[in-house]
Amino acid sequence: MFERRFLPVVVILLMASLVLVVGLWAVDSSDQTRPLSVVNSSIDEPDYRWKLVTTWPKNLPGLGAAPENFARYVNEMSNGRLEVRVFGAGEIVPAFEVFDAVSQGAAEVGHGASYYWKGKIPAAVFFTAVPFGMTAQEMNGWLHYGGGLELWQELYAPFGVIPFAGGSTGVQMAGWFNRELRSAKDLSGLKMRIPGLAGEVFDAAGGTAVRIAGGEVYTSMQTGVIDAVEWVGPYNDRTLGLNEVAEFYYYPGWHEPGAMLEFTVNAAAFQELPPDLQAIVRYAARAANQNMLDEFTARNNESLQQLLAAGTQLRHLPEDVLNLLYEKSVEAMMNLRTSDAMAEKIAVSYDAFSKNVRAYHEISERAYLNARDKVLPPVMQEAFQTEPGR
Ligand code: CA
Repeated sequence: MFERRFLPVVVILLMASLVLVVGLWAVDSSDQTRPLSVVNSSIDEPDYRWKLVTTWPKNLPGLGAAPENFARYVNEMSNGRLEVRVFGAGEIVPAFEVFDAVSQGAAEVGHGASYYWKGKIPAAVFFTAVPFGMTAQEMNGWLHYGGGLELWQELYAPFGVIPFAGGSTGVQMAGWFNRELRSAKDLSGLKMRIPGLAGEVFDAAGGTAVRIAGGEVYTSMQTGVIDAVEWVGPYNDRTLGLNEVAEFYYYPGWHEPGAMLEFTVNAAAFQELPPDLQAIVRYAARAANQNMLDEFTARNNESLQQLLAAGTQLRHLPEDVLNLLYEKSVEAMMNLRTSDAMAEKIAVSYDAFSKNVRAYHEISERAYLNARDKVLPPVMQEAFQTEPGR
C-alpha cells in the first residue's frame, strides 16, 4: 500500500521530471531553430554547384564509374552543400576538350587521362603511363609519397588546374588485333588506336598510332579505320564489345603497366571552397582513386573467362615485338626529356623512385608471386592452351 510518508518524495520527483521535460523541450526547440535552417539550406539549395565533364561516355562501367563515385562521395560527405553533376563526353564538351573546359572554368572538374593532353603538355604522359614503367601500386606510391603529385600540380599550375589521382586500371592488355602478330615485322603498316608516349613508340616501331576517344573505338575497328586498338583490359574492353570487332587479344600491356586516370579541378573554383569542402574534394578523389583499382582487380578475371568462352583468341606478344617496343620506348623517352624541361625534371623523380621501388619489389612482390606459383596449380592453363606453341 502507498504510505503517506513517501508523498513529499513523489511530489519532488514529479516536479523534477517536469523541470527536466521543459528543459529538454527548450534545448530541443532552440536546436531546431539554428541547425534546421542550415540543414534546410543545404538540402534544398547547395552552397556550390559543380559540373564534372569526362572523356568517357556517360555511365561507362570501370573508367566511367570514377567520376560518378567522386560526385556521390562529395555529395554525401558535404550533406549536399557541394553538388557535383557528371556529364559524359559530348554532353557539354567533346572528350578531348575536357582539360581546356576545366582550365577555362566551363566546368569545375574533369575526369580523364593526362596523356590525352600531351600535344599541349608533353610531360603530362608521366602521370598516366610510361611504357615499361611503374605499376599501379608503384604509381600510387610515387604520387602520394614520392613527390609525384607535387610535380603534377606544378605542371598543371600554369593552366589554373589542380590534378588529383583519379583511379588506376592496373596492368592493361596490349590490345585487340584483327590479325595475328607473328613477329616484329607484322607491326609494319598497322593502324592502331594507342595514345600517349606509347603512340610515338608504336609509330617508331613501324605502325601508325591513331587518336580516338573511347566512345568511337568500336566503330573505328568495325569500319576498318584501324586494325588494332588498346583500351583497358578484359572488364572494360568487354563493356565496349571489342571482342565483336577483333579476334586476337594480346598481352602484356607493355604500354600501360598501371595506367593512372586523373581528376582535374579548376583552381579558382577550388580556392572559393571553405576548407572543409576542399578536404572533402581531396578525400573523395583519393577514395575514387583506390576504388577503381579494387573494381578492376575484382572484375577482370571473370570478364577474361567470358571473353575466352565467347571465342576470343588470347596471345602473348612475341618476344621480338616486345624487344623492339622497348628499344623504341627508350628512344621516345630520350626525345621527350631533351625537348622539354619539365619532362626532364619529372623523369629524374620518376626514374629514381622507380629504381628504388623495383629493387624492393624484386624480393617482395615478385619473390612472393614466384613462391606462390611453385606451390599452387596454374589457374590459366585452359586459356594458355588456346595459344599455339605455349
Ligand atoms: Ca589504355
